[in-house]
Amino acid sequence: MSHHEKHVLGLSGGKDSAALAIYMRQNYPELDIDYFFTDTGKELPEVYEFLGKLEGFLGKPILRLNPNRDFDYWLKQYNNFLPSAQTRWCTRQLKLKPFEDWIKPFLAEGIAVHSYVAIRADEPYREGYNAKQDNLKIHLPFKNDGIDKPGVAEILESSGLGWPKYYEWRSRSGCTFCFYQQKIEWVRLSERHPEAFEEAKAYEKDALENGSPFTWSQGESLDELTKPERVRQIKDDYERRLLKLKAKKRQNPLRPEAELIDVDDVYGQPKFCVACHK
Ligand code: SF4
Repeated sequence: MSHHEKHVLGLSGGKDSAALAIYMRQNYPELDIDYFFTDTGKELPEVYEFLGKLEGFLGKPILRLNPNRDFDYWLKQYNNFLPSAQTRWCTRQLKLKPFEDWIKPFLAEGIAVHSYVAIRADEPYREGYNAKQDNLKIHLPFKNDGIDKPGVAEILESSGLGWPKYYEWRSRSGCTFCFYQQKIEWVRLSERHPEAFEEAKAYEKDALENGSPFTWSQGESLDELTKPERVRQIKDDYERRLLKLKAKKRQNPLRPEAELIDVDDVYGQPKFCVACHK
């Protein structure tokens, strides 16, 4: 292996990057890949559990990259304004910067860094990392090899790793309070992890008092969102959409795609973030 090359693969705690790690291990065993996880400090317990299992499978530790300043520090820097789709400071400061700081010395030494990213064949690629440096090379093995969502499911299941546990109630990894989550996911967070939900509520209250224009979920506060009547509405709406989608997908009995329906499918894929949610 050349000393002028380094191979890295970022794990988000999500299913796609986990499947990619397995896939690379099975198909490109000659590559010595460093796996890493950028920890925002606000991750679900299920994410750590899933990464632990994955480490067992890979037989290699997953490097934890911690930002030198945490969420609370950056929140203050941004005047207590919650991160939002419009002002997504969280990903920049807590996910991308720690990665850039980590690889900077390698690039400076003239080492080419190959980064493997889990964009699937059935997804568009919206340049998550803009490789500003010539020596940073982004590879998309799933896209190149035609691995789609059912392909990822197959990799996870046949490896024995299975799905991350949060998948029962939420489709993506990332911070407990990620503003990209759907209202049904907020409701479920309040049911599954009431402490994390309370923490999110406290951040929101503080932000609103400091004049932040953003609530975590668009158009309503978490207090409003968890009023019993509103919860019923959100759950009913979710069920209605799910039934409709299932009916639409039932046409192909050979590929039971209905089994792979997740929250993102029900509401339409939002602009996801490669660093946090793959
Ligand atoms: S998971 Fe969501 S809240 Fe967390 S860093 Fe990523 S975009 Fe921001």
